[in-house]
Amino acid sequence: MLKKLIVGNWKMNGVRSDIAHIKDISEQAAAHSNVDVAICVPATLIESASNISDSLAIGAQDCHAHTNGAHTGCVSAAMVAECGAQYVIVGHSERRSDQGENNTDVKAKAQAVMAQQMVAILCIGETENQRNSDNAVSVVIEQLNLSLPEVDNYDNLTLCVAYEPIWAIGTGRIPTLDEVAEMHMAIRQALVIKYGESGNNIHILYGGSMNGDNAADLLSIEHVDGGLVGGASLTAAKFTPVIAAASLT
Ligand code: PEP
Repeated sequence: MLKKLIVGNWKMNGVRSDIAHIKDISEQAAAHSNVDVAICVPATLIESASNISDSLAIGAQDCHAHTNGAHTGCVSAAMVAECGAQYVIVGHSERRSDQGENNTDVKAKAQAVMAQQMVAILCIGETENQRNSDNAVSVVIEQLNLSLPEVDNYDNLTLCVAYEPIWAIGTGRIPTLDEVAEMHMAIRQALVIKYGESGNNIHILYGGSMNGDNAADLLSIEHVDGGLVGGASLTAAKFTPVIAAASLT
């Protein structure tokens, strides 16, 4: 079984005074050392947050696929790595919808992240209509196959996949546990087809309204190797029960 990985996504929340929450969360991470914990903060906080504690990894929420160049307002994978990021979320549904990112963009970003020896957290997920039309699995697996990075060496793949049903993000609603199990199994199979046995070592995270009340059930499902947590990661009070649930599964 893979060591559980719980990643917070602060989205566009957090200013310097919120570093106090990072300190509190890092103490909880240290107290649950059988779980890997990371927080993906706004780019402006990466450097200060990554200096707080070795027990909590810090990540970015996006990066550009190119190393440098004429891309006003963007930051590259090398830039966030230099600030101390160890993880980068790519292809979050909010970027796919707000910034029009497609699978080709996401794949290029994942490759750029991995080239900097950081872990790419590649997000995929279906809309509510796709779920209700009973083709969520085929939609998500197609999205995955088109977004997965091409790599020469399948050893030590610094890649995670986050299954995030779009309709579950920030809504308080989650799929049934059977639906999560079916999706994560299909993702695992696709990863093994793509990367051979190394596909078994890739963490598959569940994301979408995970919180202290539902984390234990979700994290007990086979091939749910952790969580990507938005709203419930903003304070230690909300995040600690998720970390604690992961520690017990
Ligand atoms: C997310 O945006 O990645 C997410 C999972 O958000 P929430 O937990 O708030 O649904």
